[in-house]
Amino acid sequence: MSPPLIALDNLRRDYDSDGASVAALAGVSLTIAAGEMVAIVGASGSGKSTLMNILGCLDRPTSGSYRILGREASALDPDELAALRREHFGFIFQRYHLLGELNAAGNVEMPAVYAGVSPRRRAEKADGLLERLGLTPRADHRPGQLSGGQQQRVSIARALINGADVILADEPTGALDSRSGEEVLRILDEIHAEGRTVIIVTHDMAVARRARRIIELRDGIVVSDRPNPERARGGATVTRAPRPPTDRPGWGAAADRLREALRMALLAMNAHRLRAFLTMLGMIIGVASVVCVAALGAGVQEKVLADINSLGTNTLEVFPGKDFGDVRAGRIKTLVLGDARALAQQPFVAGITPTVTTTSTLRVGSTEANAQVNGVGEQYFRVRGTQLAEGAFLDADSIRSYAQDAVIDDNARKALFGGEAGSPIGRVVLVGRVPCRVVGVTRQQQSGFGGSAVPTVYLPYTTVQSRFLRDMSLRSISLRVADGTPTSVAEQTVTRVLTERHPTKDFFILNTDDIRRTVESTTSALTLCIAAIAVISLLVGGIGVMNIMLVSVSERIAEIGVRMAVGARRADILQQFLIEAVLVCLIGGLLGVGLALGFGLTFNSFSTSFSLIFTPGSIVGAFVTATLIGIVFGYMPARNASRLDPVAALSRA
Ligand code: ADP
Ligand code: MG
Repeated sequence: MSPPLIALDNLRRDYDSDGASVAALAGVSLTIAAGEMVAIVGASGSGKSTLMNILGCLDRPTSGSYRILGREASALDPDELAALRREHFGFIFQRYHLLGELNAAGNVEMPAVYAGVSPRRRAEKADGLLERLGLTPRADHRPGQLSGGQQQRVSIARALINGADVILADEPTGALDSRSGEEVLRILDEIHAEGRTVIIVTHDMAVARRARRIIELRDGIVVSDRPNPERARGGATVTRAPRPPTDRPGWGAAADRLREALRMALLAMNAHRLRAFLTMLGMIIGVASVVCVAALGAGVQEKVLADINSLGTNTLEVFPGKDFGDVRAGRIKTLVLGDARALAQQPFVAGITPTVTTTSTLRVGSTEANAQVNGVGEQYFRVRGTQLAEGAFLDADSIRSYAQDAVIDDNARKALFGGEAGSPIGRVVLVGRVPCRVVGVTRQQQSGFGGSAVPTVYLPYTTVQSRFLRDMSLRSISLRVADGTPTSVAEQTVTRVLTERHPTKDFFILNTDDIRRTVESTTSALTLCIAAIAVISLLVGGIGVMNIMLVSVSERIAEIGVRMAVGARRADILQQFLIEAVLVCLIGGLLGVGLALGFGLTFNSFSTSFSLIFTPGSIVGAFVTATLIGIVFGYMPARNASRLDPVAALSRA
């Protein structure tokens, strides 16, 4: 003989209240066969609901045995219990416990989602059940728009959608008027006639008389268990054999549950729009600042590298001093013209120029400007790749003859001759107290080192040395390496030549590659540093997300209880809340990236010196970070939700 559907043996359930142990069930033994219609009656507090919760695998007994289909329920893990609730039990509660955010059809379909029924199939099933219960015109209504009787019928449809063998109804008519109550009882009768086992808990003998068997509880003990004389003759016409689980495993069902979880997350966020937005604000600001800092770093780096490239790719600069940034470099006077001459002999030198610098005032008539004065050789312009707007460069003659010839740059032209229409060529400019004739004007440099607005004038270095500095040492020697000679080889030769001429190594060489590398690593390090600070705001945002998710979980404990009662696994609950957290972060991230791009666009249209550069990498990185933050900070609240005790959660409804 097959085992009875339900077999209880000396079942106890004790509650701790104020330290004392209260026995809600004090040793219940009974069996219920498949296809029975049983009423459990008793006064309030007699233990009926406690018994029902244990029968429905929502609660566990303190001691004693509960066998369902021959399996000991206490040996099952939470997910196996959830599977039993999903596949074999259908709950009908006194207060319906429908989810307010879902319409009637959505509520009915919910258990089928967890059972992995395909969307089309479960919509069909829900339609069929709603029609059978006379609710078709109400399928789109939310619970709040339905009467009590209608809500209870929706909850019956929900209990039936997975084809439950056992319907557990706890005071199903307790909140209904007598007409609706009668309707519900008629439906339960029908369900029983289909061969399902129906167990009704009630304190109302009028309701109990609809059952075929009446079990009476008093203070947690069965005091009577008898067939109902009024209904005993008409047993179930068919007896449904309990089915094996029909869980549809695989990706389809998992993807479907994921989609439902996503939908629920969106519904929940929509229900608390302002709160969701304020939570996102942390993510928005954090993501926007990280993306902007990255763009700023990239922009600055590109600008500086462009400046370096404008020096020419293959130039070396020799400076006096020990190394870049030697504070004494300005006072070291060991680099002299002879060095430049010696270097000029080298075959790989395509151009070489000594340079000296000073600052001075430029004056034309009553117009004055402070300017950088560069004393240069005739090859300077070739070494630097400078282009002329008009006139000519300084030539070897002017260098040799200490000529008072000047090439001015575009800034100087604007400062001195800005208001004039004619060409400045041939005009005389007072550089300090030295009158110089303008022979050339350089083209405006798009990006040059120190490509600032400082007016610059180029004079023969001989002139600057004799008339301004009264000193024969050089600030630097710039040389262009001929194509085909590697920079490193040139650098070695330059070092050798100069070491032979100098008693100690009192010079250093910068090549543009070195500068580029230094700039790259410096700006990267700086960007990383600022970005790390910006990441802190992301963490603060994440903590905000965690905070709100904890609130959200505690607000929705009842919903979680209902979901567990209809068979949601722990993983389903975890997933639902995790998705909500990730969604908040992702949408926040999206808005943050949008904000950053908007800011960048505005900045770029106003800034002339450099622009923010948004790389796809930084944007993708922002999204990945936002998602990770959602997962990390959403996990704890979601896990709390999934670990809730179903009965405790339901009692909050
Ligand atoms: P009924 O449904 O028959 O009204 P219950 O099963 O709800 O009765 O309760 C049976 C007894 O167990 C009552 O004395 C009640 O106070 C106690 N009880 C029920 N739930 C709890 C709980 N969570 N904690 C402490 N005591 C409880
Ligand atoms: Mg009760």
